[in-house]
Amino acid sequence: MSNRLGIDIGGTNVAFGIVNTEGELVYTNSLSTKDFSSPEDLAKKIATILSSETKETFEEIGLGAPSVNVASESIEHAPNLNWGEIIPIKEIFSKVFTPPITIINDANAAALAEKHYGEAQDLSSFSVITLGTGVGLGTCLNGQLVLGASCLAGEIGHFVIRRAGRECNCGNLGCLETYAGSDGIVTTAKEKLEFSSGGSALNNLTPSNLTPLEIFNAARKDDPVSLEVVDAVCHDLGYALSGLVNFMDIETIFLTGGIANAGNILRRKTEKHLKSYVLPNLRSRVSLKMTTLDQSTSGILGAVAAITEKSKMTIN
Ligand SMILES: [Zn+2]
Repeated sequence: MSNRLGIDIGGTNVAFGIVNTEGELVYTNSLSTKDFSSPEDLAKKIATILSSETKETFEEIGLGAPSVNVASESIEHAPNLNWGEIIPIKEIFSKVFTPPITIINDANAAALAEKHYGEAQDLSSFSVITLGTGVGLGTCLNGQLVLGASCLAGEIGHFVIRRAGRECNCGNLGCLETYAGSDGIVTTAKEKLEFSSGGSALNNLTPSNLTPLEIFNAARKDDPVSLEVVDAVCHDLGYALSGLVNFMDIETIFLTGGIANAGNILRRKTEKHLKSYVLPNLRSRVSLKMTTLDQSTSGILGAVAAITEKSKMTIN
């Protein structure tokens, strides 16, 4: 196996790095996504930086991004990227880079990072849930990444948990993401504050500081409103994940993404609700774990792992 370049395009940052033949990251860098008005400009900038900053070469490229459709080799309708509705990302990067490119959805990249570099190396059936603006899922079942008929498997964020619930970007009502994504968590906090009799630590925050991590922090200090919000979020996550466990006998679910930085309170409460819903004979087996991977580079590792797995991801 030769050196490989991994590129992880996110709504906020683009991380990229080179992994050597021993599987070690020997070069990393990152850019702000919003600095680029087009993916063409981004590809050219990455190429320029690599040629000026490192002597490491690479023979293959893995590229992870949100809303990637492996079949069409495009980013489709990504809500957090302002580069158009359909972005033929592989074609665009192929015009700048000569080595072959493997593309992958970011949640699937998170699952492959866990499988190749994290704590899922000995697990056959596990999932990674990515918690941030959106809620994504990557699953390996019996050792194989689950892509689905149209390569769109893993949209747990759009699992409807409440009939006639909150309006979602996707056009449906009551999707998990509208309650457990970052905007959803803040909305729940605002709703609960409106009906509380004051006295919450959240009232002392300016609107821009009312973030999921601040809400989890306040809950850790026993702020009653924050505890209610956190319990509601963890309930909804646990409920949605219990379906996954019951349908597919998933043994471990890893938490990653910005909101996973909330730490053990999120893990513990979500696991409690998850276990309350799963079948009794799966209850003792299933567990929820925090990723142990460094989140600033795990997307790079996942994109690189996609190169290794690409023969298993052939689309017919
Ligand atoms: Zn939705």
